[in-house]
Amino acid sequence: MQRNVSTTVRVKLHSLTNRKADLLAREYEAFQTEVHGGDADLYSATDQQASKVQRQKDPNPGTEQPVVLRNDVFDVAYDEDTVLSSWWVKVPVYDPDKGQGNSIWCPAHVPRKDEQLVHEGNLRDSELVRRDGDWYVHLVVKRSVTVQDEYDDVLAIDMGARWVATCAFLSDRKTTFYGEEVRHIREHYKQLRKSIGKAKPRQGQQVVERIGDAEARKVDDRLHKIARQIVEDAEERNAIIVVGDLGGIRKDNDKGRYVNDKTHKMPFARLLNYIEYKAHDAGIDVQLVEEYDTSQTCNRCACEGVRATQGRFECPECGLDDNADKNGALNIGKRALGKFSKPLSEAGAVLAQPETQVIVQRDDEPANLPLLVDSTPSGGTPRL
Ligand SMILES: [Zn+2]
Repeated sequence: MQRNVSTTVRVKLHSLTNRKADLLAREYEAFQTEVHGGDADLYSATDQQASKVQRQKDPNPGTEQPVVLRNDVFDVAYDEDTVLSSWWVKVPVYDPDKGQGNSIWCPAHVPRKDEQLVHEGNLRDSELVRRDGDWYVHLVVKRSVTVQDEYDDVLAIDMGARWVATCAFLSDRKTTFYGEEVRHIREHYKQLRKSIGKAKPRQGQQVVERIGDAEARKVDDRLHKIARQIVEDAEERNAIIVVGDLGGIRKDNDKGRYVNDKTHKMPFARLLNYIEYKAHDAGIDVQLVEEYDTSQTCNRCACEGVRATQGRFECPECGLDDNADKNGALNIGKRALGKFSKPLSEAGAVLAQPETQVIVQRDDEPANLPLLVDSTPSGGTPRL
């Protein structure tokens, strides 16, 4: 089955002349001014994007927002005969010397593993990002992937505040909990930033920025490992991956600031991105299903249950007493299969179509099976 998917490729701009670096920095700062409600000169198409970000996200004053590059005003070119760089990105900027919009071609590094994708893919709206004083373009590339039509199992993922991902197979309910340490990394750096802000109010800002970069790298590294493990597990059992959609997990979701509070605290969108990329390379489909009600519903009898304690789900009807995140993941898997009593999501409907067949053999397991935990969590093992 062919599926159209979007992938983000991180392209680093390099060897910039002073003039180009200045124009990029000017455009970037002007964009920050606009998204925070001010007025500055920008390339006209980018100006419109800034207003849109301002309207839809209304970002907090202290935050930096990536410059949105509309797909019809930037370009990527490849020329292997150019000495300085084989790849070039054309970035639209406002040119104060000319008093109008202009474009600058910047030497760029496209990761080797992504070159084919950038050659063949269809470029969508992308982003200009500054990190550690370097410039990156996060290219969004639309591509067509071939995924299998038939699967033997469902690997359901519930993304949550405690575990970044709780993964459960529908066939035997084998469950793995991933990434509590991601939360610890984030909490650690949050404290660090707070104490530095208090101790050194003047130099604090620069130090805080560098700490932010270190945090981002650590979290990113962890997310890649988690995604790799999840996809390997799915491959081993020939399982389709279904992910509970928090209603805003997608970056391009228009809900902006009104998304579920969960999505602000953990990097779910990025994890989903990595899972999708690796899964599609392996020919495995990834489907999103609505997460609505999956944490309050009993996965065994579909009745409404209670979360008696944090992390615990109890059903007053059938007596199920299980890990709450595992219960949520199983509900997500069942919803994808159309076994859930609530209305099917769009993704569930797609799954129910004959071209995708999922054969899950066992569905009458006892409620409590041993849980597998991928690390030794310092915040306490899920109770069994
Ligand atoms: Zn029940």
